[in-house]
Amino acid sequence: MPAAPRVVIAGAGHAGGSAAAFLRQMGFAGDIVIIGQEPLPPYQRPPLSKAWLKGEADAATLALKPAAFYPDANIDLRLNATVTAIGRAAKTVTTDTGETIPYDHLILATGARARRLPIPGMQLGNMLELRTAADADKLKAALGPGKRLAVIGGGYIGLEAAASARALGADATVIEREPRVLARVACEILSDFFQSFHRAQGVTIELNAGVEALVGDGTIKGVRLSDGRLIPCDAALVGVGAVPNEELAKDAGLACEGGIVVDLAARTADPSIYAIGDCTHRPLPLYGRMMRLESVPNALEQARQAAADICGKPAPMPEVPWFWSDQYDLRLQIAGIPFDTAEIVVRGDVAAGKFALFHLSADGTVQAVEAVNASTEFMGGRRIIQRRKKLARERIADMAVSMQELAAS
Ligand SMILES: Cc1cc2nc3c(=O)[nH]c(=O)nc-3n(C[C@H](O)[C@H](O)[C@H](O)COP(=O)(O)OP(=O)(O)OC[C@H]3O[C@@H](n4cnc5c(N)ncnc54)[C@H](O)[C@@H]3O)c2cc1C
Repeated sequence: MPAAPRVVIAGAGHAGGSAAAFLRQMGFAGDIVIIGQEPLPPYQRPPLSKAWLKGEADAATLALKPAAFYPDANIDLRLNATVTAIGRAAKTVTTDTGETIPYDHLILATGARARRLPIPGMQLGNMLELRTAADADKLKAALGPGKRLAVIGGGYIGLEAAASARALGADATVIEREPRVLARVACEILSDFFQSFHRAQGVTIELNAGVEALVGDGTIKGVRLSDGRLIPCDAALVGVGAVPNEELAKDAGLACEGGIVVDLAARTADPSIYAIGDCTHRPLPLYGRMMRLESVPNALEQARQAAADICGKPAPMPEVPWFWSDQYDLRLQIAGIPFDTAEIVVRGDVAAGKFALFHLSADGTVQAVEAVNASTEFMGGRRIIQRRKKLARERIADMAVSMQELAAS
């Protein structure tokens, strides 16, 4: 009898842990080995900039699955180990713990790492990044009444950390190189809204502000801006984006274009190797483009795709990409990606902090919906985008027309 096939998963994060669970759910009976660099079993990163910082989440709520799940599901979870090379011809991976592990199917789920700034002072104490639970613990220790946090980068993670810092009584200054926060990921209306909201909560926001150096004597004391000003601080968080962990794939000769290139079954060009989650450059069939996404829904979708393909099941229906961010009592939910926006239609009341922004292409097709405290609009928006619907701007803006009617029209 042939040996049961073995799936090896490199990376024990959201995507890797979920792929193992989906494989078992879909009836995969062979060996599953997960190799993870971090000391923790797969956990959720979103709370790290939110509930975890505020002491509202513990290790158990952070964990993707209860500890017993892995032995119960006969999943061999090997932590504190890094996959260092892939031997494609022999179908093996090697680890920094000196092991060579054969695979029938390999899933690369190596995620992304925080981008570093090429400026002096990055080695100073209390210079922080936020990617892992260990990073979050360091940040948490630096926050509290009277403490001053400088946040370099006004993206989602930076803004969430600033909101958490304020909730803990710390001062927060967000330093953003662009003329608005969230410049890379949200439209101007949304940026303005979040800027005003943060400022009203006491966050200082410096826009068009380049960072020249980090100043301190062993520990950070301030952030020197390009215009010469010094922003004094006790800790600084660098939140300037993430870089995909694609080196393993590159070294093995797999195509990478700012992420490991995969198809809609999460397959690389090597039929035995899949890649899922933040480390991939993936197709977006609704938009006819390829892109790297950094979100939990994407990690789950691709984990499902890889598991289905390995189990010989039909490919799951492509999903509308979506993302969320929590800041103060604001829940932002974004469905779709605003490529080719010709017009933005506001539904709801921006000043009241309950609204949705519908991005329409030139022919009126809804490309994306950014919803603040408007989950009905977000849910309806997802359905509308999935069906590639064209909507009239007057009907979107008219609150007398329900989302149900809009979605059905
Ligand atoms: C602070 C923070 C807040 C976030 N908030 C949100 C949110 O609100 N909403 C949302 O949708 N998304 C959010 N995200 C993004 C989301 O967490 C990621 O998209 C998701 O974790 C991606 O899963 P992944 O498995 O691809 O990567 P990860 O979860 O990063 O896991 C990758 C794992 O692989 C390990 N690894 C890397 N290389 C190797 C190797 N060679 N060998 C072994 N192991 C390796 C890494 O150490 C890591 O543990 C947030 C992320 C962060 C950091």
